[in-house]
Amino acid sequence: MKAILIEHARIWTNGAGLIEDGFVLIEGDKIARVGKMGDRPKPPKGAEAIDVKGRLLLPGFVCAHTHLYSALARGLALPGVSPKRFGEILEQFWWRLDKALDQERIYYSALIGGIEFIKSGVTTILDHHASPNSIRGSLKAIKRAVVDELGLRASLCYETSDRDGPERAREGIAENIEFFDYAQAEGDDRLSALIGLHASFTLSDETLKRLKRELGDREAGFHIHLAEGPEDQEDSLKRYKKRVVERLRDLGILNDKTVLAHGVHLDENEKAILAEAGAILVHNPQSNMNNAVGVADIPGMLNKGILVGLGNDGFGYEMLSDLRAMTLVHKLARRDPKAMGFDLAHKVFFENNYAIVKRLFGVEVGKIRPGYQADLIIVDYLPPTPLTEGNLMGHLLFGLVGNPRVLTAIVDGRVVMKDRRILGVDEEAAYREARGAAERLWKRIK
Ligand SMILES: [Zn+2]
Repeated sequence: MKAILIEHARIWTNGAGLIEDGFVLIEGDKIARVGKMGDRPKPPKGAEAIDVKGRLLLPGFVCAHTHLYSALARGLALPGVSPKRFGEILEQFWWRLDKALDQERIYYSALIGGIEFIKSGVTTILDHHASPNSIRGSLKAIKRAVVDELGLRASLCYETSDRDGPERAREGIAENIEFFDYAQAEGDDRLSALIGLHASFTLSDETLKRLKRELGDREAGFHIHLAEGPEDQEDSLKRYKKRVVERLRDLGILNDKTVLAHGVHLDENEKAILAEAGAILVHNPQSNMNNAVGVADIPGMLNKGILVGLGNDGFGYEMLSDLRAMTLVHKLARRDPKAMGFDLAHKVFFENNYAIVKRLFGVEVGKIRPGYQADLIIVDYLPPTPLTEGNLMGHLLFGLVGNPRVLTAIVDGRVVMKDRRILGVDEEAAYREARGAAERLWKRIK
């Protein structure tokens, strides 16, 4: 990999101050030097120089829970969808969509989703995939699109579930374990594998025990939806006489690499169990609003020391929108304008999301300082007011949200987008092929 010298950048380092007119030298997959333009080194031989003319340089964003498979659902209206509660949204829409996914549609969903994430400044994703009629090989198809071709950093897993019978559950287990071993053997620090589980209410004790048996002594984290709607608790209390978090703890699912999405319906004891287990909780505020499931106690869980990150649950690609939604929804829910200040938002998005990457991928990202992995974005933003180390959140949430105008993205020292052009694939061809795949997908569901 050739060295990259970024010049004349306004660098928000995330912890070491703001550099007004600075440089960043990237060597291999890491940041080698950072400083003021006056101190910049002579570029190493063959280095690529990028003059960003005062644009903003930030650490790449992380989306800690998403569903790339939703990419081909944009604009899809299905007849007969009239959900009264959360479970019916799954049954009437998402489970009809995911059953119609084949390898081609999985690949194009991942490719389009990946492109849109890069364009929104996201350099790491944690995906949660489902395609009950095309399980085996699905994770490698996603990996080919997002890691090999687009160059993103990605954690992948398959949503194991009993909802389509025991054979599909067994296939889900096999797909996860095979991909976990494959990812370990690859040794690519852009790739991580978790063991995917849909949610407690679609998983029997038998399936979870079989999964644990088959995992053996592998040290794997899990990725599961947790108490998103009320169904999860109702089911667990009825069938197992315990709450969902107690059930998952008793089955050995909670550890410090386990990613739990949502956690909307938890009691205080369950939150204490999560804190004790050191598990990761991912908040998805826009999805929760869209599905009308309720408001997770994010300030309370942060207060208990739980590692709370931010995802989007497949609700678009633009993380700043979810970041802003998070700052709004907790204030409204608690009728307290101090319930989610910029300090807490910063902790979730600019500390915890990067801590999650460290746990799952074993690399340091999220700060622009020597020794960190070079996961960076250049944003076309000239601040009309003073921009400091401490007030970036205001610029993001009132100047860049909705359209972050990311020009260039670098992941693990590789330029994956330059001047808005994705380098790994022919974008126009990808969108044309995706439209064809989506058309066939929609016809099949309807
Ligand atoms: Zn989800």
